[in-house]
Amino acid sequence: VIPYGGGTSVVGHITPSKSDAPVLTLSLEKMTRLLDLDETSRLATFQAGVAGPQLEEQLKARGYTLGHFPQSFEYSTLGGWIVTRSSGQQSYRYGKIESLFAGGIMETPRGRLEMKPVPASAAGPDVREMALGSEGRLGVVTQAQVRVRRAPEAESFFGVFFHSWEQGSDAVREIVQNEIPVSMLRLSNPLETETTLILSGKSWLGMADRGLRMIGYGDTRCLLMFGVTGSARLFKRTRREAAALCRKFGGLFVGTIVGHTWEKNRFLAPYLRNTLWERGVAIDTLETALPWSQVREASVAIPKSIVDAAAKHNERVLAFSHLSHVYRDGASVYTTYLFRRTGDPDELLARWGTMKHDASLTIQRFGGTITHQHGVGMDHAPYLPAEKGALGMDAIRAVCKSFDPDGMMNPGKLF
Ligand SMILES: Cc1cc2nc3c(=O)[nH]c(=O)nc-3n(C[C@H](O)[C@H](O)[C@H](O)COP(=O)(O)OP(=O)(O)OC[C@H]3O[C@@H](n4cnc5c(N)ncnc54)[C@H](O)[C@@H]3O)c2cc1C
Repeated sequence: VIPYGGGTSVVGHITPSKSDAPVLTLSLEKMTRLLDLDETSRLATFQAGVAGPQLEEQLKARGYTLGHFPQSFEYSTLGGWIVTRSSGQQSYRYGKIESLFAGGIMETPRGRLEMKPVPASAAGPDVREMALGSEGRLGVVTQAQVRVRRAPEAESFFGVFFHSWEQGSDAVREIVQNEIPVSMLRLSNPLETETTLILSGKSWLGMADRGLRMIGYGDTRCLLMFGVTGSARLFKRTRREAAALCRKFGGLFVGTIVGHTWEKNRFLAPYLRNTLWERGVAIDTLETALPWSQVREASVAIPKSIVDAAAKHNERVLAFSHLSHVYRDGASVYTTYLFRRTGDPDELLARWGTMKHDASLTIQRFGGTITHQHGVGMDHAPYLPAEKGALGMDAIRAVCKSFDPDGMMNPGKLF
């Protein structure tokens, strides 16, 4: 039985594993309703098949927001977010889904698991933690309570250019560690910065490029996008403080020009995949999270490992990274890579396999997690034992067995 939310998994969560057993895909498409809004506690109860826009629309009508905006927002669902430990683009303000998920119901082969929406608890291990990241292996999340907030009064996204990746990443770390309450931070490395600028398609780009170069923001420049969200009073102060801190690290504040374009296209970039595919180019992404002490080196080594892996097949690849989802102790490094599509699918899969494997080993070498937000599915399963250890894997298997003794729920995912 494979629970199916929006079908946006990028790591093989909903692909049946090789077996002769019949497969039942269970769609949650019709389970989209807001069942209850407890305004005093700011807890909303939704059916778990609700997709991003349906969820936000229902909350907006009552003046609230969840604030969970993954790039797959248009299609991905609340249930999918919970069981894959998803992260929205403004997770710095709203938190990952782990902190938004308060409780709910999971129907398992052994019966119903009710997870009480208490704000905190010391009552031993928390069963809600078992639902998070369960990837359909324990049962079907049918309802979830989520922590909502009043819709913000103001929101904008601003751009800052830095001379180098080093200066940019130091500025981002300082913003976070000084607890300046921005809602999003996304720092692109030089190659991603160039790609972003070109894709913006703006007519003034050539002039802006020459101007930036004249004042020293040349080939190594990096673009930071930061978001400010909240009350009108806090908005001004936060923007001022973040911009001032960026200037300390050589940042050039360029206002909302680039940020506005990003905001307009924030969920649209993935549509490029199909166009690129038709034009003979494949694209994939991978991501991790590491402590700050590893971030700078790892964010260079990961794309490099992909380039080197492609060279083993005598191929060239365009690989670039950005920092996003930042924390006081570290950040997520997100890498995009584009490579030539061959006519032979086996050859293409082999190329992709080499790049993915070498990048995954590099992530492990730096002590990063194999995934910050996409989950494990089938693609990351081979790397999970190194992260969890033998005892950890035994415990995960035991939990699955206890909810699903016959192993009928989404087999082949996680392990
Ligand atoms: C273009 C693109 C951009 C993306 N951007 C982001 C991003 O910014 N942040 C991020 O975190 N992820 C992102 N993802 C990955 C993906 O959107 C997330 O993993 C998302 O949480 C999956 O939700 P879904 O509803 O589509 O789940 P599906 O893909 O349908 O399923 C994923 C897994 O969850 C299980 N499942 C789904 N619903 C339930 C349920 N109700 N009960 C039990 N199990 C269930 C499935 O069995 C499967 O194992 C992106 C994907 C794409 C294609």
